[in-house]
Amino acid sequence: MFKKALRYSRKHFDLFKKLKDITDKRIKARISTAEVAIAIFSLQLANLGSLNNYAQSSVLSPSVSTIARSADGMDIDYLRNVNLQIYKKARKKKMLSAYRGEWIGIIDGKEITTSDYLKCSHCKKRKLRDKEGRLKYQYYHQFNAFILACKDFSITLDIEPILPGEGEQTSAYRLLERVCKNYPKAFSLVIGDGLYLNEKIFKLLEAHHKKTIAVLKEERRQLFQEANRLSLLEEPVVYREGKTSYRVWGHSVSGCWDGYGKDVRVIVSQEITKKGLTQKMVKAGKTRRWWQTGCGPPI
Ligand SMILES: [Zn+2]
Repeated sequence: MFKKALRYSRKHFDLFKKLKDITDKRIKARISTAEVAIAIFSLQLANLGSLNNYAQSSVLSPSVSTIARSADGMDIDYLRNVNLQIYKKARKKKMLSAYRGEWIGIIDGKEITTSDYLKCSHCKKRKLRDKEGRLKYQYYHQFNAFILACKDFSITLDIEPILPGEGEQTSAYRLLERVCKNYPKAFSLVIGDGLYLNEKIFKLLEAHHKKTIAVLKEERRQLFQEANRLSLLEEPVVYREGKTSYRVWGHSVSGCWDGYGKDVRVIVSQEITKKGLTQKMVKAGKTRRWWQTGCGPPI
């Protein structure tokens, strides 16, 4: 499988050739950055998970410390450009297909490299209590990923670190700005969880003619309460998929989201499985259009 995937990436995308001119910040490097980049790619492809696993499974160069030093100063924009070329080729060759007729981007935060002892200048930190109840710091890295959700699989188009002292939304804004610029036609709709229900993000995506959906959390109290109030007044649309039956309301809500200043579409979905009531989810979409373009259930 590993060899097959390598052959495939060479044959269709010329990947190793595309990586040949990548650089990093090492001085007089004995092993080229391209070799390191290919080693990292192979490590991912072989699903080894970490550099430690790589060290245990391989006696080949580059060494773990070379990978770490090179990766630390690798030209990230070069890698982004390689990713863009691969996406363009895949799209041109019709390897990607839309999900239910819609090209959907998903934005999501991830946490990596958690440690109680090791830290670097890019680490975020949080206070935790250990088993004895003493306070201690834990160090970790976080990033936002922008994922294109296709019919059969998903691909990551870009990532952006969430730096110490900043929240998901600040990093998400940088990421979305760049993705809209580099992949202007790759997607028409962006979905995120409640963290991305932010007027700056909605406005940015609107300026790029993208529709936006985010999970509506109770903290956005006015919008939440209005949606629930309207749900009491209207009959839902009822339908069933497998063991789950749905009761769905769709409301156009005005003047309940300060800072955004426009009407939003709020979808309330109550899901009941055979085991009983499981959850109540509320989502907010930018406009009525999204639900009319065939992504969601009929309303
Ligand atoms: Zn760090």
